[in-house]
Amino acid sequence: MHSHPHVAPAPAEEALRGAELRVTAQRVAVYRALAMHPHSSADAVFGQVREAVPGIALPSVHNVLGDLVSANVVRRVSLPDSDRALYELAQPADNHHHVQCVVCGSVQDVECAVGHAPCLTPSQSHGMRVLEATVTFRAICSECERKSSSND
Ligand SMILES: [Zn+2]
Ligand SMILES: [Zn+2]
Repeated sequence: MHSHPHVAPAPAEEALRGAELRVTAQRVAVYRALAMHPHSSADAVFGQVREAVPGIALPSVHNVLGDLVSANVVRRVSLPDSDRALYELAQPADNHHHVQCVVCGSVQDVECAVGHAPCLTPSQSHGMRVLEATVTFRAICSECERKSSSND
């Protein structure tokens, strides 16, 4: 009896192989961290993976994130009210936007209003072919609003 039970690959491993990346413990851990906590900074990812991958250092997390971004497995988002880049898993044909609290910086996904890129047409494209519009709705979350009104 040498039958191997068919074990479906974990999503992280499937995504890495699909992008022709070697499956490493560090890459899998970073992928899983972002699956659980989208819009994390490199520091936050480091905090999440250091338990799963003993001995991993912050520069390695930056390297892994760079590899995953280059391979389109991870998307890097720069938001006006975050002082550092945030990362989330990249989904094919995903054109979602973000709403961010200007006080605490918390981020949520917002569905694209039109459903495909670019969802906004610029009044003047200066001869360039527009690929996408990156929209960030700047907002105040209900928790921050509550805090500010109770301070008055
Ligand atoms: Zn807030
Ligand atoms: Zn997002």
